Amino acid sequence: MKNELIDLIKTGDDCVKCGKCIPVCTIHAISPDETTSPRGFLDLLAAHKRGDLPLDKNTKRIFESCFLCTNCVDVCPARLPTDTAIEEVRAEIAKEFGITWYKRAFFWLLKYRTIMDVMAKMGYVFKTCAFADKKEQKSMLARFYLPIVKTGRLLPSVSKTSFLNSHAEHIKSENPKQKAAVFIGCMANYSYTNIGDSLVRVMEKLGIDILIPKKQLCCGAPAYFTGDLDTVRWLIKKNIEYFETFIDNIDAIVVPEATCSSMMVHDWEVALKDEPEWVGRSAKITAKVHLATKWLNDNTELQELLAKEGRQMDYSVTYHDPCHARKTQGVWKEPRALLSKNYPLIEMGNPNRCCGFGGVTIQTERFELAQMAGAPKAKMIEETGADIVSAECSACRMQLTNAMYKNGVETIFKNPIELIDEALKR
Ligand code: SF4
Ligand code: SF4
Repeated sequence: MKNELIDLIKTGDDCVKCGKCIPVCTIHAISPDETTSPRGFLDLLAAHKRGDLPLDKNTKRIFESCFLCTNCVDVCPARLPTDTAIEEVRAEIAKEFGITWYKRAFFWLLKYRTIMDVMAKMGYVFKTCAFADKKEQKSMLARFYLPIVKTGRLLPSVSKTSFLNSHAEHIKSENPKQKAAVFIGCMANYSYTNIGDSLVRVMEKLGIDILIPKKQLCCGAPAYFTGDLDTVRWLIKKNIEYFETFIDNIDAIVVPEATCSSMMVHDWEVALKDEPEWVGRSAKITAKVHLATKWLNDNTELQELLAKEGRQMDYSVTYHDPCHARKTQGVWKEPRALLSKNYPLIEMGNPNRCCGFGGVTIQTERFELAQMAGAPKAKMIEETGADIVSAECSACRMQLTNAMYKNGVETIFKNPIELIDEALKR
């Protein structure tokens, strides 16, 4: 098994250096240098693969500065997968330099739900010792200096009970029109639990039979973006084996998280590409995986329900397009179509601009880059004057909530599913 995600030399050679990707590149906007640009990355990666450029601390730092936002892929005439090329070299970086202990510990916990549940419970019990609660933002703020965490930074708060432990496995509808499973994602499971609660209420109102598969594990995205491909493949295979036990009995797996659904729909196959049997098994599962707003908009009567029974809300909303919704899944019209039924929608200057989350490494070791990328987005949100900023992604939520806090912007973040649920509440 070759275990490579992509042919780096061919991808580098295929780049015609047209430069169309440069104006949209998130890291290039912060660090306007050819080495930190999509075509620069591709050139360096091909040179490295040919043996002309060693993977040292300097090149590692360059390759770790990409936000994996896929802006470049979106505009590239050849749709060159710079993001996958970076993911490929990150796997090599992980092998060559090792993965920092706290990331290894985190990825290990993602594999074992029961232990993660206990850790989250302990986190909830003890969080007030070290963190002040910021309830409105569903966040917490360190009271004193803590390594890794960074002082003065808003982090997602831990909930008392996880989403998966808050609901029955099967929520039956009397005359079900459809049957759908919920894949919740780790952040919405442990922190932003209201997203899943809202999704369940909305699906109940639509008469959908709901399955909440309790043994679902992380989709693998955090480990994938860090280059820990062994963990990624382990998680994917465990999830596939589990989902195969019920996939024939459901119409869809609904995911209220863009990064998770994009990981499942696109990256599972890439990560498994040298194992054809698993690619086939994965394809059968992911054919039914859909981002929640897309599936609800296209396959249910949610629009009609919102028009008939939804309240007209007097607070305004601006919608941010997560990279993993609009660029990788083509989902951007659907959340707007649903939200505009009950909320005044105000478009921001460039809703498609990356929020600057960037993955685990940028959020820990290169946090200054996340702050630099987040500030203009926070300003853009403020300029709309909207009360709420919404996006179907908890990574965007974590990044934007902190960016707004640091830049004195008082707008609150909510997932579109939470807003839809609020409009339907009596
Ligand atoms: S993925 Fe984003 S940050 Fe990385 S090279 Fe492409 S546009 Fe730049
Ligand atoms: S848009 Fe594509 S082909 Fe053009 S420079 Fe960027 S990566 Fe190369």
